[in-house]
Amino acid sequence: MSARTDLAIVPGFRSGRPSYRWRGIGRIEDLEIDFSSRDRPALVTAVLATCAEPPVEDPEEVWRLTLAARVGGLLAIYAETVRTESLPLEVRCPHDDCREGMEVELPVPELVALAQAAEARPETDVAGQDGPIVLRRPRGTDQRLWRRRAYADGAEAEAALLASLVISGTLAAEERSAAAEALAAFDPLSCFEIDVRCPECARQSGIPVDLEAVLLASLSRAQARMISDVDRLARRYGWSEAEVLAIPAWRRRRYLALDGDGWPA
Ligand SMILES: [Zn+2]
Repeated sequence: MSARTDLAIVPGFRSGRPSYRWRGIGRIEDLEIDFSSRDRPALVTAVLATCAEPPVEDPEEVWRLTLAARVGGLLAIYAETVRTESLPLEVRCPHDDCREGMEVELPVPELVALAQAAEARPETDVAGQDGPIVLRRPRGTDQRLWRRRAYADGAEAEAALLASLVISGTLAAEERSAAAEALAAFDPLSCFEIDVRCPECARQSGIPVDLEAVLLASLSRAQARMISDVDRLARRYGWSEAEVLAIPAWRRRRYLALDGDGWPA
């Protein structure tokens, strides 16, 4: 494995902002995270608040992080949990006449660098009819607000979302799609896309990847492994949940690898 990137300097590390170090999933309190929650922004907040070091007393702090920073935090927690610097993905060629499955590995340090770059620039501007329009990066608090509102359709939602991000200037209706595109390019982690060449049909395509979902799924599997360890070791040795989880994961693997006579199975 290459030298570790300093994953601590992920989100919100501009001067005067609190800085967090992130740890991997594995402590008993991590069993409190409900990965089956359908409220994804709240789930991301719970993961980030639980795995921040020092622990976050007020979850509002985590809600206020930009979406890029929140994905950056999840990336750091993922890297600490699985002790790897690559994120494997399974994608499909988007062309209907092909649909070949492909395996891609994304480099975590480079994704973290995107999060850091995003945090360094909280605003962007797009050219409007009446001069530049300044848009700010969306935050967790925006997502929470958007979830609570009921929009008639996608167009109304997009208009309201964009309007809430305008800091200065006037965004005309016909400028919305250009502004949405500018924001997507400005926020590569929340609107992530990989550019791959299909080995089967040789066509180059951009494939959207929901990084937040991929990372949450991986962390959810880590939590499921903890529960499975507790179940098996509690049955075998009569240890409590707390006792099992106090043992480092690598040592739990060693116990689980033993057969009934104490020899590696
Ligand atoms: Zn293809």
